Amino acid sequence: MLQGLMMDYPLTMTHFLERARRYHHDVEIVTKQPDGSLHRYTYGDAYRRVCRLANALTRLGAQPGDRIGSLAWNHYQHFELYFAVPCYGAVMHTLNLRLAPEQLAYVINHAEDRFIFADASLTPMLEAIQPHLKSVERYIIINAPPNFQTALPNVLHYEDILRDEREAFDFPQLDERAAAGLCYTSGTTGNPKGALYSHRSQFIHTIAAGAGDALSLSSTDTVIAVVPMFHANAWALPYLSASLGFKFVLPGPHLRPEALAQLIQDEKVTVAAGVPTLWIGMYQAIKAHGFDVSSLRALIVGGAAFPKNWIEAYEKELGIPVVHAWGMTEMSPMGTSSGTLVARTDLSIDERIAIKTHQGYAPAGVEMRIVGDDGKELPWDGQSVGEIQVRGPWIVGAYYKDDSAAAQFTPDGWFRTGDVATIDPKGLLTITDRTKDLIKSGGEWISSVALENVIMSHPKVLEAAVIAVPNEKWSERPLALIVPRSADDRPTPEELQDLIAAHCAKFWIPDEFRLIESIPKTSVGKFDKKTLRQMYAEGKL
Ligand code: AMP
Repeated sequence: MLQGLMMDYPLTMTHFLERARRYHHDVEIVTKQPDGSLHRYTYGDAYRRVCRLANALTRLGAQPGDRIGSLAWNHYQHFELYFAVPCYGAVMHTLNLRLAPEQLAYVINHAEDRFIFADASLTPMLEAIQPHLKSVERYIIINAPPNFQTALPNVLHYEDILRDEREAFDFPQLDERAAAGLCYTSGTTGNPKGALYSHRSQFIHTIAAGAGDALSLSSTDTVIAVVPMFHANAWALPYLSASLGFKFVLPGPHLRPEALAQLIQDEKVTVAAGVPTLWIGMYQAIKAHGFDVSSLRALIVGGAAFPKNWIEAYEKELGIPVVHAWGMTEMSPMGTSSGTLVARTDLSIDERIAIKTHQGYAPAGVEMRIVGDDGKELPWDGQSVGEIQVRGPWIVGAYYKDDSAAAQFTPDGWFRTGDVATIDPKGLLTITDRTKDLIKSGGEWISSVALENVIMSHPKVLEAAVIAVPNEKWSERPLALIVPRSADDRPTPEELQDLIAAHCAKFWIPDEFRLIESIPKTSVGKFDKKTLRQMYAEGKL
C-alpha cells in the first residue's frame, strides 16, 4: 500500500449526532403526541436527552452489542433511541408493531432483546406474548398516561430513567463495522428475517439517500416521516435529519389522512415520505376538505408501486412532484429513486410522469443486474425480464443468525431481491412483479402488478389486487378483487375487460372481477396477497 493515504476515519452514527448538536441545535423536531397536542423541541434538546438516555443505559447495565428493542410510533423519544442506542455501542432493534403476536415473539426471541422500549398504548401486544419472551429483562414505557397499568413485569418509565441523568455523555469510539441497527422483514413467506445494519452501512446509505438524484433533501426542508420508524429505518430519515438538519415532523400514532393533511398544512411541510396507500387516502381527504398542502415540494412514495393515475393526480391536479422510489428492508432500504426528475425542467410534465411510473435509477453505491431463469445475466434493453440482483455497501450480506434463506445469496456475492424487472439502456428500472406474485397461466407469465396498475387507472376503481387462483385448464388464472370508489357507481366487468384489453395481452384478462369492501394490508400498508389467497382458499372472498 502506498504511504500517505487519507485518514481511516470511522463512519459511525455518532458523527451525525454530533452534527445535530454543533450545527442544528436551534432547528425544530415536532411530534404529534397521543393526545393530539404538538411537542416541540430542538436538535439541541434532543442531543441532551440522548446523553441522558445513554447514561441511563449505562445504569441499566447495557453492554456493547446488546440488542435493544423499540415498539413505538414515530415520535421524539423514538428519535432519541435511534441515536442513543447505536452511539452507545448497542443495536437498535425496531419492532414492527403490525406483526402478528407469534411473529413479534419470534423476532424478540430471535434477536434476544435485553430491553424493550414500548409506547404505553402498545403494551397490550407485549403483555399477550410476555410469557414466551425469553431474553427481555426490562420494559421501559414511553408516554404512559397517569392511570397507566400493565401486567408486564420489570417495568420502568422512560421519563423516570432520564430524569436524574447528566446531559453529557462520553460516546465511545466505535468500530464502523459494529452493528448499529436490526430490522426484520415483514415475513411474507416463513419467519421474518433480520437485516443487521452496521454503522458503516448506515452512514454510507444516509449520505447516498439524501443526495440530489436520490431523495434530494436539504436543511431548507421540513420533512414529515410518515413511513414508520419500525420500517427499514424510516427510509433513513432520522439519520438524514441529524445529518442535514431539516425541520423534522413526526406524526405519532395519527396516520389518518385528514390528520396527516392537517399536520402538513400547519407545519408547512415541504417533503412527505410514505407508502402509496397513505397518499391515496390523503388525496381524497384534500379533495373532500380542501386542506392547503401547497407547501409540499415533493412527495416521496415507495414500498409499493405508485400507479400512473395517482402520480398524475398529485402532479397535475395538486401541483406536487412525486419522487417514486424502490427498495427493501434488506437494502437499508434505498434501491432506486426518481429524485433527479424533480429538477428536470427540460422535460414536459408528461415526460416526467412517464418516467416516474417506473421505479427510477440506482444511486452510486447500488450495483444491479437482472438474471433469467437459467441464471444468465440479461441485457439492459427495457424488454428482457429477470430477477433483480443487487450488491453494495448497504445491502444485506447474510440474514442475522438464519441460514434458512441462504439461496437468496448467489455464490458470486449478489443478493437476490425476489423482484422481477426490466432495466432500460439508461438504467431505468421497471418492477414487473415479485417472484411469488407472478401468475402462470398456460405456461405463460401474467404480471399481477401490471394488471393492478391498469385496473386502478379506471376512474371508478379505488383499489385493485390481483391474485393467482388455481385453474384446472390453465393451472393458474388471475382473479381481480376490486374496491369501487363509490358503492353507487361500480365498474362493470365489461368496462374493465375493455380497459385491460387495450393495454395487455388478451389472456391476461381476469376471468372474474369481484367487488370487495377493502383490501387487507400487510404490516407496512401493502396489499396482503397472502391473506387474500388464504381467504380465497377458505371461500371467504
Ligand atoms: P419491504 O422490505 O417490506 O420494504 O418490502 C420490499 C419490497 O416492496 C420490494 O422487494 C418490492 O417488492 C416492493 N416495493 C418497494 N418499493 C416498490 C416500488 N416503488 N414499486 C414496486 N414495488 C416496490
